[in-house]
Amino acid sequence: ARDLASSRNTPELIKQRNEQFGDVILTRFPPEPNGYLHIGHAKSINFNFGIASEYNGQCYLRFDDTNPEKENMEYINSIIDNIKWLGRTPFKTTYSSDNFEILYECAIKLIKKGFAFVCHQNKEESRKFREQGIPSPFRNRPVEENLRIFEEMRLGLWDEGEAVLRAKIDYKSPNTTLRDPAIYRIRYVSHPHAGNKWCIYPLYDYTHPICDSFEGITYSLCTLEFEIRRELYYWYLEKLDMYRPYVWEFSRLNVSYAVLSKRKLQTLVFGNHVKGWDDPRLLTIQGMRRRGYTPEGINAFCDLVSVTRNGNENVIGFQLLEHCIRKDLDNTTKRTMAVIDPVKVTITNLPDTYEQVLEAPDFPTQVERGSHKITFTNSVYVEREDTQLKDHKDFFGLAPGKVVGLKYAGVVKCIEVKAKDGVVSEVVVEFIKDDPPKPKTYLNWVSSKEAFDCEVRIYNNLFTEDPTSSDKELLELLNPNSLVIKNGSKINKNIIPELQHLSRFQFERQGYFAIDFDSDITKKTFVWNKIVGLSDTGKQ
Ligand code: ATP
Ligand code: MG
Ligand code: MG
Repeated sequence: ARDLASSRNTPELIKQRNEQFGDVILTRFPPEPNGYLHIGHAKSINFNFGIASEYNGQCYLRFDDTNPEKENMEYINSIIDNIKWLGRTPFKTTYSSDNFEILYECAIKLIKKGFAFVCHQNKEESRKFREQGIPSPFRNRPVEENLRIFEEMRLGLWDEGEAVLRAKIDYKSPNTTLRDPAIYRIRYVSHPHAGNKWCIYPLYDYTHPICDSFEGITYSLCTLEFEIRRELYYWYLEKLDMYRPYVWEFSRLNVSYAVLSKRKLQTLVFGNHVKGWDDPRLLTIQGMRRRGYTPEGINAFCDLVSVTRNGNENVIGFQLLEHCIRKDLDNTTKRTMAVIDPVKVTITNLPDTYEQVLEAPDFPTQVERGSHKITFTNSVYVEREDTQLKDHKDFFGLAPGKVVGLKYAGVVKCIEVKAKDGVVSEVVVEFIKDDPPKPKTYLNWVSSKEAFDCEVRIYNNLFTEDPTSSDKELLELLNPNSLVIKNGSKINKNIIPELQHLSRFQFERQGYFAIDFDSDITKKTFVWNKIVGLSDTGKQ
């Protein structure tokens, strides 16, 4: 049972709010621009924008930019870009720092009402006092003195750490967030959005409710770690006699075999354990995008995990994310044959000039969606795992004596498997022209005349153990084989005109692949990222 009393507004406040914003639902997604967004943020975006559009409302993008030393334009731009990529259009893009003037005036109001005071304790002292529930010695200084020193703080007459404005609430409250928390601190740094105007900056806990109220937010949705701060949120708005949004907390999303906290992501990126914020092994929006995940798949996942309040940490299996991505790709990506680890197959009874043009369906189960042409010739590449030096009854690929199908082309009989250093180097077959038997398997192939070389990057779990449940140090869990690079993979030339960065295809029987940014499309050098396999392997 939650206490609704604190969010209750007076009819007058509701009237004021509705006059200004209309009687509509407004939500906000409030990132701090101190890092890149990840799948957890995607959940919050999906929730905030989703609720708003479901009820004919709107959602703001608000940069919660109160820590100028940690924030920068690079993060701001990437957040704007990521939200757009996820398919969302903010009602307005605002910055908490746009409200620095209002926040300053509110602070003066609090001082005048006797609800705030300037404190000269250093960080260490005030922490100790707050822990022990002891009042600051500056708690009861006169209003005039507080006003004067706060003004001096703004003018830059005090050094960093020499003075802090604090709320005067309850120094021994059982809810420690209410023990006279700081409202303003001095920082001589310029702000990425507000520039050099200020040397005092408001703290998040104070800024957030005022910005929410000022923007007419009806539902302030945040993650559960903020539950303890709800009382403080309402305290500020009550004392300032401002409209009170309804605050509701939901669990943070965690995904198995992934890390999402900024600190851990930074450890991986700055320690060069991955290639950057957009490394396809990370569940940053940038990383998922580069890997080839689709916004539709990511949003479907967010819908599916839904929003709960059970426990602060809910860990969702990585497979569920892959399932959602695969489901979307299954419906949207054209099929083509490609060979990742090629072995050459020579068909001895077809002439060198032999060329048979075949139609291969783009979606074999929905032939009405079109087809593409492939040419069958007397030499093709097949996947190495579809060849063996010696036959075995459980093996259905090419081995001496075996009869095997080449997809869309026909049936061949394996005559010889050549080897070099014990590894298959070439397969020799004969084409069965008349009355071919029905083979157990049809293999993927690419004609050597149509084959185009490319690089394929295959991703495995970044960690050998799930970091969301392991006690070990993050870096000890790193999987040395999380990236496997294949060179000399073969794609069919005919798909080249369709290739752009991030173009996605299903390589039949192999999985889904996307063209990486490292490709130089104009020079026809292609690098593919494996997005996800065709079925749930039970591994990553
Ligand atoms: P981090 O710990 O990764 O730095 P954060 O909460 O500090 O995360 P913000 O930029 O402040 O990151 O987050 C913006 C919004 O996204 C907040 O409302 C926050 O609650 C939400 N959010 C962040 N991480 C998650 C997550 N893992 N699951 C759901 N929502 C999240
Ligand atoms: Mg943070
Ligand atoms: Mg935060």
